[in-house]
Amino acid sequence: NAKSSGRDAACLFDVSIDQVVHERQMLEQHLKSALEHQEFTLLYQPKIDAQTGQMVGVEALLRWYNPELGQVPPSRFIPVAEETGLIKPIGTWVLQQACAQWSAWRDAGYGHWVMAINLSAVQLADPGLLDLLRSYIVQYRCEPSQLELEITESHLMHNSHLAVGTLQAIKELGVMLSIDDFGTGYSSLAYLKRFPIDKLKIDQSFVRDMLDDPADMAIVRATIALGHELGLRLVGEGVENQGQAQQLTALGCEELQGYFFARPLDSNSLVQWAGVQRHLIERRA
Ligand code: C2E
Ligand code: MG
Ligand code: MG
Ligand code: MG
Repeated sequence: NAKSSGRDAACLFDVSIDQVVHERQMLEQHLKSALEHQEFTLLYQPKIDAQTGQMVGVEALLRWYNPELGQVPPSRFIPVAEETGLIKPIGTWVLQQACAQWSAWRDAGYGHWVMAINLSAVQLADPGLLDLLRSYIVQYRCEPSQLELEITESHLMHNSHLAVGTLQAIKELGVMLSIDDFGTGYSSLAYLKRFPIDKLKIDQSFVRDMLDDPADMAIVRATIALGHELGLRLVGEGVENQGQAQQLTALGCEELQGYFFARPLDSNSLVQWAGVQRHLIERRA
């Protein structure tokens, strides 16, 4: 009856809250020592020039392997890191690691690759971010125009008053800015003209069904048109098949990224992959 099922539901609810809290505490506990134990790595996913098929850059994606927990995906640990403030030291490590890697690639003759780094709202709100960025650029002799920061739209909206100044200063360094997961979250178009951004990344949820769902296709088409009207470059994310790649290219999307081209790779695999890719393009030409 209703009464007993109500009690069961309440009981289930308590258990699941308990489990969520427990899991969070456990993640937090392990996250605290993850940097010290060198449990993080960065993988790099290629971004492709839609016109030429050439790799023009990568997005650095954080990976966490803990001996007890195994591989924990960013979708699980980034929110915990943000809530606990641990994202600051972790984000600093990502920034340094990415700048160091770009520098190593430059020395190996790949200075034309752009390194895109995901930035959390917590980092964006940190007054120390600019000095940090500046110091790594100097330390690793990075070309600022070959660095790009990806910021998610919802993050921008939550911190819009703070963000404008910081983004302006980053822009003045010569570093590129892009809006990640565009079209999800808190869609206000007003900030597109207030923020000094260079690129929009069309969220993968729209790309996924664009060939089957006319609404998704309309959103992708309109986003590309809007971006171009504002003088921005467009990046299609989550491209998993040739049909999506061709359609995005036909609509004028400048860059493509997704499993269809490559999964996120470690640095050695990436250099190897890029070599094979270049060879294929040259043979076709
Ligand atoms: P994001 O920045 O939007 O990154 C794209 C995500 O889509 C990555 O997931 C990538 O592996 C995945 N992806 C790429 N191509 C495809 C595809 O064709 N199909 C599908 N289904 N997925 C694809 P990942 O690496 O799990 O990262 C998830 C999110 O975690 C990122 O989304 C980003 O918001 C956050 N993140 C990752 N690394 C960092 C970091 O270093 N710092 C911060 N603050 N956030 C990060
Ligand atoms: Mg991103
Ligand atoms: Mg994204
Ligand atoms: Mg995302």
